[in-house]
Amino acid sequence: TLDGEKTLDQVIAFFDQYDNIDAIGIAAFGPIDIVPESKTYGYVLDTPKHGWSGYDFLGRMKAWRDIPYYWTTDVNGAGWAEFTTGAAKDVDNMVYLTVGTGVGAGIVSGGQLVSGYGHPEAGHIFLQKHPEDTYAGHCPFHGANCLEGLAAGPAIEERWGRKAVDLADCPEVWELEADYIAQALTGYVMTVSPEMIILGGGVMHQEQLFPLIRKKLKEYINGYIVTDELADMEHYVVPASLHDDQGIMGCLELARR
Ligand code: ZN
Repeated sequence: TLDGEKTLDQVIAFFDQYDNIDAIGIAAFGPIDIVPESKTYGYVLDTPKHGWSGYDFLGRMKAWRDIPYYWTTDVNGAGWAEFTTGAAKDVDNMVYLTVGTGVGAGIVSGGQLVSGYGHPEAGHIFLQKHPEDTYAGHCPFHGANCLEGLAAGPAIEERWGRKAVDLADCPEVWELEADYIAQALTGYVMTVSPEMIILGGGVMHQEQLFPLIRKKLKEYINGYIVTDELADMEHYVVPASLHDDQGIMGCLELARR
């Protein structure tokens, strides 16, 4: 909730306690510049969060101590933890999707985190809106057209007038939520052919979502792809396995890397 400078003051005060740090993994909220050749590598890019747009996060850390840093997004960090030590440790290709305050995905393909001109923004994948859903959407860029705009925690709260956690007993909430998440998963399945999909984040603590999502994903694929993985939906779409420590555990693994 603080701006970049004040947050980094606290981060640095914490690490100042330790003299023997070899490397640090940083998994920051995005969007961030992760292209090493870029002039703004290590910066936080345009964001509505106060005092963060254009902030040289990595530069501040390097000025403090010039050690190796692995710099990536929060979802890439969490996904990397599931890939190296969690639910997906036995596969080479996976999608980690977090559904919470925002929505994002860390994608591993051929054992590597997927990135191109920057990091993916898979939470903003476009969806077909349910005909009876009149909600205007929460995404400032895509309204009710993208997954984050339709299905992030704040979208649930705004649409139904209560926090997700207080709606656990309302089946219509989770039917709709599962439909949107399953639509997005169908897109990921068709695009990157993951061997496993892991779902984390605050909204996914609603465990009743999992059977609904699996059922709808199967319906949307509609027999077009037939694999052993997809035939075993129980083990294909699974909850995060690291007790909400996947972010920090991913940073540790990325620092080791
Ligand atoms: Zn969007």
